[in-house]
Amino acid sequence: MSGKIIIAGAGLGGLAAASCLMKAGFDVEIYEQSPVLGEVGAGIQISANAFHVMRHLEVGDQLLKVGVRPGAYVFRLHDTGEELQRFDLAADHERKHGAPYVQLHRADFHEILANRAQAMKPDLIRLDHRLTGFTETADYVEARFHNGHVARGDLLIGADGLKSVVRKQIVGETPATYTGDGAWRVIVPVEKLPKPFLEPVMSVFMGPGGHAVCYYLRAGSILNFVGIIETDDVREESWTLKMPWEKLKADFAGWHPAIQTIIDSGDHDQCFRWSLHNRPPIRNWSTRRATLLGDSAHPTLPYLAQGAVMAIEDGAVLTRALTMTGSIDDALKLYERNRVDRTARIVEQSTFNRKLFHLPSVQAMRDEFAKRNEGEDRNKWLYSYNPLTVDLV
Ligand SMILES: Cc1cc2nc3c(=O)[nH]c(=O)nc-3n(C[C@H](O)[C@H](O)[C@H](O)COP(=O)(O)OP(=O)(O)OC[C@H]3O[C@@H](n4cnc5c(N)ncnc54)[C@H](O)[C@@H]3O)c2cc1C
Repeated sequence: MSGKIIIAGAGLGGLAAASCLMKAGFDVEIYEQSPVLGEVGAGIQISANAFHVMRHLEVGDQLLKVGVRPGAYVFRLHDTGEELQRFDLAADHERKHGAPYVQLHRADFHEILANRAQAMKPDLIRLDHRLTGFTETADYVEARFHNGHVARGDLLIGADGLKSVVRKQIVGETPATYTGDGAWRVIVPVEKLPKPFLEPVMSVFMGPGGHAVCYYLRAGSILNFVGIIETDDVREESWTLKMPWEKLKADFAGWHPAIQTIIDSGDHDQCFRWSLHNRPPIRNWSTRRATLLGDSAHPTLPYLAQGAVMAIEDGAVLTRALTMTGSIDDALKLYERNRVDRTARIVEQSTFNRKLFHLPSVQAMRDEFAKRNEGEDRNKWLYSYNPLTVDLV
């Protein structure tokens, strides 16, 4: 099948999908609402199931150069730092699942994907084009933008994130329920931290009513802190909502000295908080000539670090579905059939992890982690999936 594909949204999902599609011979145009291309200054983790696609797009080595491969996953109590569980991530993840686990600065990841996509088509991305809606016929789809521009193509992919316009038109308003969690994010250059500090692992500190995730970025030069706290103070779902440092400090009062050092060493004017919302999975996300990908299709809580990973899987599977079938309609059915159950399961497991990370007492945490088998079966199902080779049925 050939044809012109319009993508709304130049986030991580839209860019990865565009490259997969162009590599398979499709003509692609991306329309991005923002006047500038980029991502926020925060961390993101990518597991083997997405890294296969990065290798396919020939950016794997670049990502490894700017990223960090954590040595282990370590769960600790929030106050004493007592280690409850540790499992190897560095060599073990690649050995078991065929590709590495990498932690990246979002801006680096986005830039590498954007450069890769634009190397294939320099005028691929049109900035400052906010999609407002679309119309479809048996023969084409037309996407409309806020500035009056209309783009015609064979397929529209809504990679336009959590507040997707394409999703709203396809499935209508879907309810979002506040989880009760606010996610603080702060990054700290390592030269501001004492030496030695936290080991280069993925550290999760868990306490009743909250947890904190700490890992290094940019070849170990930055520490990324995400602190989740239960709070009634509901704000926006936004990467750019600043909140006072004093509030962050108060939210983590009594936590481990390493957490205090991170909070004290970060830029007091650069503390952000995202109010996390839950949206139940949906089962149909396509029309005849429009479909969804990434957060627009299956928004998730970040407790399994799989939101962007799923978006990348989507792009690879959708590309294969389009090359395997004779019509857009058949391709979208094949794509959905192969993505709906897996993504719903990941969303549900992410939601479940909130319970695990926020158990009501220290003893409950000790008990729960003592009987945990590192999620071996779950991990195999989750990380050993290769979207480039998995059977599409
Ligand atoms: C605290 C936190 C930590 C996370 N950590 C991880 C992690 O470690 N690993 C992981 O895999 N995931 C993680 N995620 C999830 C991940 O950030 C998202 O799942 C991922 O960014 C989704 O990518 P996307 O391309 O679908 O959407 P987005 O990144 O939201 O991109 C959407 C793009 O579409 C554009 N857009 C929106 N509306 C329009 C419009 N109408 N017209 C044109 N353009 C439009 C936007 O400007 C944006 O560029 C985390 C999320 C949070 C909140």
